[in-house]
Amino acid sequence: MWTCRNCNARFAVDEVEPQIDEEGFFFICLGCDYRNKLADIGRDPAGRPQLVQRDDE
Ligand SMILES: [Zn+2]
Repeated sequence: MWTCRNCNARFAVDEVEPQIDEEGFFFICLGCDYRNKLADIGRDPAGRPQLVQRDDE
């Protein structure tokens, strides 16, 4: 689960589409459009980024 740091809405990982820009990975909250940071912690066996949400971001 990912949690919006602005409005505390919670989303399943497959519910929102991760995006990337020059500052890194993030997802946009479906409820309030807040930009929530994600951390890339490596690759899964299929080569996709493993994204997590840090507790302090
Ligand atoms: Zn939100």
